[in-house]
Amino acid sequence: MGIALIWSVIAFLIRWIFSKRRGAISYDSSDQTALYIRMLGACVIFKQLFSRDVRVRSQVGFEPERRGSHPYLGVDFRTLHSRAESAGSIPARRIRRLFSFQRHLLSSRLLRGVPHQNPLHILDEDYCGQARCMLEKVGSWNFDIFFFDRLTNGNSLIYLTLYLLNHYGLIELFQLDMVKVRRFLVLVQEDYHNHNPYHNSVHAADVTQAMHCYLKEPKLAKSLTSCDILLGLLAAATHDLDHPGVNQPFLIKTNHYLASLYRNTSVLENHHWRSAVGLLRETELFSHLPAEDSVNMERQLGSLILATDISRQNEYLARFRTHLDQEELCLGNASHRHFILQMALKCADICNPCRPWELSKQWSEKVTEEFFHQGDIEKKHKLEVSPLCDSSTNSIADVQIGFMTYVVEPLFAEWARFSDTRLSQTMLGHLCLNKASWKALQPEEAEFEQDGGSRALPQGSVES
Ligand SMILES: [Zn+2]
Repeated sequence: MGIALIWSVIAFLIRWIFSKRRGAISYDSSDQTALYIRMLGACVIFKQLFSRDVRVRSQVGFEPERRGSHPYLGVDFRTLHSRAESAGSIPARRIRRLFSFQRHLLSSRLLRGVPHQNPLHILDEDYCGQARCMLEKVGSWNFDIFFFDRLTNGNSLIYLTLYLLNHYGLIELFQLDMVKVRRFLVLVQEDYHNHNPYHNSVHAADVTQAMHCYLKEPKLAKSLTSCDILLGLLAAATHDLDHPGVNQPFLIKTNHYLASLYRNTSVLENHHWRSAVGLLRETELFSHLPAEDSVNMERQLGSLILATDISRQNEYLARFRTHLDQEELCLGNASHRHFILQMALKCADICNPCRPWELSKQWSEKVTEEFFHQGDIEKKHKLEVSPLCDSSTNSIADVQIGFMTYVVEPLFAEWARFSDTRLSQTMLGHLCLNKASWKALQPEEAEFEQDGGSRALPQGSVES
């Protein structure tokens, strides 16, 4: 009797541990046995169960020193941007997620050892009519991803990507197992940190939607292969997977293990890529393809995601300019198509300032909130505050105008040279108007702050 009880407690603990996912964990692809290093997360949870000290420290946002060389080494990404929650007040989003049936069912089914029942009906039945209507206009540049995310109960990334995979006929063409596809997308969405103000699954959904808009552009549509499209969509959906909500310099100066693992080079992008590969292998999405093909897909996925490293922007831009100046881009050439996919993903990743003002403004506020939060952490721990992260010397308008001028405008100007279409002109038009709107808000912001106001933007939008 006693032994049975002990076994049932152990079984419960194991089920609980494996159903309680942590963020994706990177592994070096040269070490094939490290595929299941994701499960290391479970070990940490085990430690939390039996160590009160660890649990308390984790709750304040820091895990105990591990791989130990710096007191800030173990910043817990999952709690970095979480707000203090008073007992008894559960955020609405958290309640929604608790009730998200397919999230629980699909993400933990396999690890809990529950046999598959066909969950194919779930999304169809759950589909809200309005969300379905919105998806019919998913190629519109005015697509409101925030509204779509609300309509889909915080599952915009899953629904949108699944819709697009179907839309392009990729599931049938690559004979993808629908259950694996859905499980993969659920895990991808889960591995984004929704406490991050900006780098969360809604941003990933937004980038995927933008990618779709670019894939439809005539030059790309007539030359891209189905494999290119599949890679483009998967790269967009996973390009910031398990983003910690802090930037690479922060990871380097805190001696974070990811910075060591990737030798301070494209640390986050390498982590996003390896995390995506981990999910592909965990869900066996491409297991039916020849090994050579799936390895090639993983490699190309990496090449696309690594291109989103903003510190390498000039390098990609220079190559793009050279190709355009010499009129040598030939989309019949696989390597040129891949380069254009890289540029398309780069554009999709930073296209927020090219969206209509009401959408663009929300993104600007979110990204600046994330920057300033990093700055606050740096100040709190007496670290040098990263550029753009100091809320006492930067404003949202300043940050945005600089970003638009030095990063977004040069990229989209070249993209418009490559793809001179109505969409490109629309994007440049919004960019120009949004920049003017931020400039118009600049003096107001300065006055507002001199009066001792907060950094929140004045209410009332500037129409563009
Ligand atoms: Zn991104």
